[in-house]
Amino acid sequence: MSISQEIWPPRHRTYFGSLQIQSSAPGEPYAVTRIRGCTGVIDLGDKRTMEFAISAREIADDLARELNGDSGEGSFHGVFVAAGDSPTDAELADARRRLREFQEKLVAAADLEWERSHNPMFITDLERRAARQLSLEKPWLYDPKPTIECPVCAERIKPGVAVCRACGAILDREKAARFGLARSPRKERPRNAEPQAEAEK
Ligand SMILES: [Zn+2]
Repeated sequence: MSISQEIWPPRHRTYFGSLQIQSSAPGEPYAVTRIRGCTGVIDLGDKRTMEFAISAREIADDLARELNGDSGEGSFHGVFVAAGDSPTDAELADARRRLREFQEKLVAAADLEWERSHNPMFITDLERRAARQLSLEKPWLYDPKPTIECPVCAERIKPGVAVCRACGAILDREKAARFGLARSPRKERPRNAEPQAEAEK
């Protein structure tokens, strides 16, 4: 279950391949991603393998831990595992409380940082998002260099760029073509090169 509108890149596991976690649409209280049990395979060497069952619950717990847990203490991004087919009111209330508490913690950290440095560079995207989701007005909310999220890889990029500098996705086909970027799909640009279209005109 996710009570967040954040869109995550697909999750990968050897035993199920790739899985897109559903994010709730605006106005939707939650989104459900159904998880099935899988069979994992351990390579024992000498061309011998051993299969073992992984329950849906184990997989779901693992995915929820991964999605929630990369942002420090109390990290929670609104993903949880429900006991039944759909979340109970209590489960939803608990998830909302955990998300709000984590967002309030992020905002408090940003307040402290702002008091100390008055430098918007030290405020993280995560902290800004938390303040916006809590509908708070903060002096540090203003980002001097606005960025958007690449819809493909979620990297922060400048608005209006033709090509994502991180994953190479073409975001504005017309603009990319004008700069000669979208015409030959066979020619791959070097991964780390700064696309020309990124430069501000
Ligand atoms: Zn990208």
